[in-house]
Amino acid sequence: MLRVAVVGSGPSGCYTAQSLVQRDPGVQVDVLDRLPCPYGLVRYGVAPDHEKIKSLQGSLRTVLEDERVRFLGGVRVGGPGGLPVERLRSLYHAVVYCVGAATDRRLGIPGEDLPGSWSATEFVSWYSAHPDAADAGFLRGVRSAVVIGVGNVAVDVARMLVRGAAELRPTDIPQAALDTLSASGLTDVHMVGRRGPAQARFTTKELRELGALPGTEVTVDKADLALDLGDPGALPAVQRRNVEVLHGWAAQPSAAAERRIRLRFFLRPVELLGDGDRVGAVRFERTVPDGEGGVTGTGRYEDVPAQLVLRSVGYRGVPLEGLPFDAASGTVPHREGRVLRDGAPSAGEYVAGWIKRGPTGVIGTNRSCAKETVTSLLADAPTLARADLPADPVVELRAAGVDPVPWSGWLAIERAEAELGARLGRSVVKLSDWDTLISTARVA
Ligand code: NAP
Repeated sequence: MLRVAVVGSGPSGCYTAQSLVQRDPGVQVDVLDRLPCPYGLVRYGVAPDHEKIKSLQGSLRTVLEDERVRFLGGVRVGGPGGLPVERLRSLYHAVVYCVGAATDRRLGIPGEDLPGSWSATEFVSWYSAHPDAADAGFLRGVRSAVVIGVGNVAVDVARMLVRGAAELRPTDIPQAALDTLSASGLTDVHMVGRRGPAQARFTTKELRELGALPGTEVTVDKADLALDLGDPGALPAVQRRNVEVLHGWAAQPSAAAERRIRLRFFLRPVELLGDGDRVGAVRFERTVPDGEGGVTGTGRYEDVPAQLVLRSVGYRGVPLEGLPFDAASGTVPHREGRVLRDGAPSAGEYVAGWIKRGPTGVIGTNRSCAKETVTSLLADAPTLARADLPADPVVELRAAGVDPVPWSGWLAIERAEAELGARLGRSVVKLSDWDTLISTARVA
């Protein structure tokens, strides 16, 4: 019998566990997560108003409830107070790291850390009830926000900023975030790309959704669109449709609306400017296309007022102590999912998901990524399975001072979230602090 640990219970971890049990009738899989709650970015990254994508939790749940899969929550691997990677490796025939990309990229410009400037990840974690997120007073005194970047995360945070109470109340957003977003005095969101509309990273469905938000007008500057070089007809399908949607908005007459989302392009952030003790504006340099998909600066600048700046310029993997790491790409070096140590495959160590290929692709991309890794692992299995292991890793974990939260603990959290929702006259409402999550899980 092959015993495998999967570290991380987000989509890549769950798809890895699923592929293992589907393809090897003798495998037992423990899925470890540092949180007592499963599903990774599906729970803590997908926006609360994207119920359809969130419903994917149903299929991930089926994986974690398989009789040969065991969820072990509250287990931190690596780092201070965490279970060392070598210790974990000694408890299993193989370990697959599916730990995602846990931090955000930096802009590296002056003023980036002024109060009022946050990574989009921090804002997303707050409205998603991540227990590590703090209520940082994101929206206090904010009338105008700048979102830097034009990917799907930028679209998510721009949309969440203008959503009203009526639209958020039916979601599972924590009550404090709902109250704050509903009461906000924000009127303008500027979403800004350093390159042109044809190079934007958002997908058309997500972009179009901005145009359907109640009480919100979307505007696009014709001058920005006019800078785009080349024939839109020659673009790949997604980019062509994006450009069509943007041209449609640019042609619309202005309408009176409570809130506006203004999409801007060819503006590269160069500095965040302070106003008193916090951010007051973002200085951008106007860029022009270089004809090869990139841009060059023009030496002309534009300041966009903002009391809130959300830097949405992509996620980044963080090193896990004891595992090799390529700082340039923010990933673990691998060959077909096998972790490489000094260029050679390391026996019994694998990666899947964003820590393997970087923070790109949609949730479904993780399925094929996990399959590739599992193919490598199962090819190595005859050799790996020869190792003698302790009888039950959970006994060893407890001996090492780690008491995992079992699946029943997570189910208790689910029940408590449904009860909280009922008390508040809403449907499910997420719990957002460590103490409540852990105490709820432990009484199960
Ligand atoms: P992303 O798609 O990589 O977009 C990052 C954006 O930041 C790009 O516009 C990029 O511009 C810009 N950027 C990077 N460095 C910059 C800098 N120094 N200054 C100014 N702009 C900079 O990343 P993401 O939005 O975080 O999304 C991550 C992944 O999750 C993507 O695959 C995304 O599709 C997925 N996702 C999907 C959904 C959904 O399906 N609904 C929702 C959220 C996330 P350049 O192109 O010029 O580098």
